[in-house]
Amino acid sequence: MKIEKNSVVAIDYTLKDDAGETLDSSAGQEPLHYMHGHNNIVDGLEKALDGKDVGDKLTVTVTPKDGYGERDEKKILKVESSALPKEMAPEIGMQVAAEGPSGDVVPLWITAVEGASVTLDGNHPMAGKTLHFTVEVKSIRAASEEELNHGHVHGPGGAH
Ligand code: ZN
Repeated sequence: MKIEKNSVVAIDYTLKDDAGETLDSSAGQEPLHYMHGHNNIVDGLEKALDGKDVGDKLTVTVTPKDGYGERDEKKILKVESSALPKEMAPEIGMQVAAEGPSGDVVPLWITAVEGASVTLDGNHPMAGKTLHFTVEVKSIRAASEEELNHGHVHGPGGAH
């Protein structure tokens, strides 16, 4: 069985930046499970995995355009900490969910805390970075009907 739309795929992966610094890795953990063709993973990596088989190993370079996007300085805003949820003690690296103009949920990351002033950044922390993946395909199966309805993987390595 080769990877195609609606395949549930498990991969071992390591993600490095241009400097060879490891940004993320499944080493020592469960492989990453995702549903192919549902934007569960970045575009460039998904495209490279299309048609691959169990045991295939690949190295994939993903440009920001096919990764987490280019950085956009307009997505950075400063707010008073009182504008954040009351129970929240803001810390750098925390993620906050905000409501976008069309009612959709937009993730923001806290990038600075200075007194009562908090800087929120709508850029993904990996935006603007070229991503270097090394990937091994561990398993491939067809998605269940329930998984197809939800657009993500259930069971080990998945949601719920
Ligand atoms: Zn679900």
